[in-house]
Amino acid sequence: MSNINGTMKAAQVSSAGGAFEIVERKIPDPGPDQVRIKVEACGVCHGDAAVKDGDMPEFDVEYPRIPGHEVAGTIDAVGADVTEWSTGQRVGVGWHGGHCFVCDTCRDGNFTNCEHKEITGITSDGGYAEYMVASHETLAAIPDGINPVTAGPLVCAGLTSYNALRRSIAQPGDLVAVQGIGGVGHTGIQFSRKMGFETVAVSRGTEKKALAHEMGAHHYIDSNATDPAVELSDLGGADVILATAPNSDAIEAVTGGLSPHGQLLVVAVPHHQLEVELAEFVNGRRSIQGWNCGHAYHTEETLEFSSMFAVEPMVDTYPLEEVDTAYERMMSGNTRLKAVIKPPHNL
Ligand SMILES: [Zn+2]
Ligand SMILES: [Zn+2]
Repeated sequence: MSNINGTMKAAQVSSAGGAFEIVERKIPDPGPDQVRIKVEACGVCHGDAAVKDGDMPEFDVEYPRIPGHEVAGTIDAVGADVTEWSTGQRVGVGWHGGHCFVCDTCRDGNFTNCEHKEITGITSDGGYAEYMVASHETLAAIPDGINPVTAGPLVCAGLTSYNALRRSIAQPGDLVAVQGIGGVGHTGIQFSRKMGFETVAVSRGTEKKALAHEMGAHHYIDSNATDPAVELSDLGGADVILATAPNSDAIEAVTGGLSPHGQLLVVAVPHHQLEVELAEFVNGRRSIQGWNCGHAYHTEETLEFSSMFAVEPMVDTYPLEEVDTAYERMMSGNTRLKAVIKPPHNL
């Protein structure tokens, strides 16, 4: 149990494009509908660029801000009105940082797209800190068998690939291609295989071929050496292509490999607009579907599936003080498939 009047170490950003600053901040107290989490691990994600680099203008970030939305930790204080969670419970918090319950989208049960949604580590302080507070509706219980370093990436990258695939049109035995082998892609390959899909990994070069097979891919396509659309067509055509690398050229290169009725499932936003041959989509009744993460109940289902079927992100861990290194390596793809930060009290 911490001293609630004490201070904690955190990594904050004071302006868009600014450096991370390791600071002492007051340990936050939970509001009536919140809990306080003692953070044990926090994944580093492309979404953090919204704060660090200010490259997502749709979010009006207020600085200074503590980023981090792939949080795993233990509840150490509970707000006055919280009845369903208690201290000592292990929880994860992802991108979805809260919803209003009363807008029409919420009333329709679609909490992820709430008109007044909060985003962890972007509209509120996140997990690059020893402690954070989170609204009760954003918490997902972490199963006993999953350690914090594994749980962190699963609550965002894992949730995204799991949720997108299980809500896709793919049925067991269908051909599912995962384009890009990064944080989302390498969990996507594992989920795809374990959901019973014939799984194809598509990436540039041969560097990740062995890894893709290790993650469960039945096939590997090197998109530098071959035309991935032709290769996918030779395999019978992909019923679903999960596009995880935010690169429009790479996505355009695979769309020709969709089978009739096939679905291009896009979970990362490229910086350049996508150009596709619409005739292929009209004539084959193909579709393009966007997908964002999910809410806390989906996160809990992701963690339970991962525990049951041994889905595990590959991570490198960094102490909080090395957040700059962790972030740079994540952005340049120069770390293992996920970088995870551990605050001082968990080293
Ligand atoms: Zn993320
Ligand atoms: Zn709402």
